Amino acid sequence: MSGLEQLYQQVILDHAKNPHGRGLVPAADGLATGESHQVNPTCGDEVTLRVAVGDGIVTGVSWEGQGCSISQASTSVMTDLVTGLPLADVAHLDQVFHDLMASRGTGLDSEDDEDLLGDATAFTGTSKFPARIKCALLGWAALKDSLARSGALAG
Ligand code: ZN
Repeated sequence: MSGLEQLYQQVILDHAKNPHGRGLVPAADGLATGESHQVNPTCGDEVTLRVAVGDGIVTGVSWEGQGCSISQASTSVMTDLVTGLPLADVAHLDQVFHDLMASRGTGLDSEDDEDLLGDATAFTGTSKFPARIKCALLGWAALKDSLARSGALAG
């Protein structure tokens, strides 16, 4: 295992052990709130995610989940990445992370995009394993669906 792969592994283990955003936070007045439950049947991963949006900015992400360390760590990393971001930036990050997952382990061509992903580049190796890609994308699917349900994307 290369030094970079070890670093990636450590990021995933840290987030799996100490997940950020875990524990659903109740909806707050004045914020658009959406919730989504997503299941990855091939691995047994589950996540229920709640998002709060105010003035076009993701103000909070909270979730409950169970499953493999990749699914839990990826949801944790995503929570850190998207909290405080405008919706357009969240949509872009979602696209960039999907590009990473389609890279078959090679990573992204654009260094700017890799910078945007931050800790989420730790899942570069995951993209070599088709069965695990769904684990890494579970939280992102829950976020996208929550945002759609919140009504914040309209208008
Ligand atoms: Zn999994």
